[in-house]
Amino acid sequence: MIKENIISVENNIANALKASGRKPDEAKLIAVSKTKPVSMLEEAYSYGIRDFGENKVQELCDKYEKLPKDIRWHLIGHLQRNKVKYVVDKAYLIHSVDSLRLAEEIQKEAEKKQVSVDILIEVNVAMEDTKYGVTYEETEDLIRQIAVFPNIHIKGLMTIAPYTENASDNTIYFNKLKQLSVDIAEKNIDNVCMNVLSMGMTGDYEEAVKAGSTYVRVGTGIFGERDYSKL
Ligand SMILES: *Cc1c(COP(=O)(O)O)cnc(C)c1O
Repeated sequence: MIKENIISVENNIANALKASGRKPDEAKLIAVSKTKPVSMLEEAYSYGIRDFGENKVQELCDKYEKLPKDIRWHLIGHLQRNKVKYVVDKAYLIHSVDSLRLAEEIQKEAEKKQVSVDILIEVNVAMEDTKYGVTYEETEDLIRQIAVFPNIHIKGLMTIAPYTENASDNTIYFNKLKQLSVDIAEKNIDNVCMNVLSMGMTGDYEEAVKAGSTYVRVGTGIFGERDYSKL
């Protein structure tokens, strides 16, 4: 089942890229493996997946130890400051930076470990109360504040769009995030690049790709429904 799912999601991404006049490799799939056992990740790995997304630091670190070292681990969930030290040298990209205090902690731990950390700024484009992320209006200011940290490199923006039955409802948010990244790129801020746009999940990744996503984060569409009761 995982094999068929990967093939079909990758086909859909390729078709969405084509339909919007983008190049074949412009959007990549992150297989979101939170709550799933290592055996399922190994299976996805055997079919070529190298980008995995996890929500929790502890789970990412456990799986990091058990799986091949050429995996790129994406931390996509909310990051607490007291967990930063465990993950700065393991995550390939942290998608969920939304405050100066969190960035300060990342800088501190990255300096200690002498690593540099790639991050995205999480933007709450839809202004949902339940979501983390900075507002559209706060984004540039936060980026300018973080840009001066020597061990952190801002690579782009991330958003979690609202849950919806109708994926096209989210096109407006995806377009908004894309526009914001273009606007910020034009400011040419030192140490900031806006090449990465992390948006789109199982229900809406094709719309996200059409709007310019460079990373889609697909969990259910690859591994099936999650069962949180077993955790
Ligand atoms: C769980 C999760 C996903 C994947 O969600 P699906 O709907 O299962 O594809 C993507 N992004 C984030 C931030 C998540 O927490």
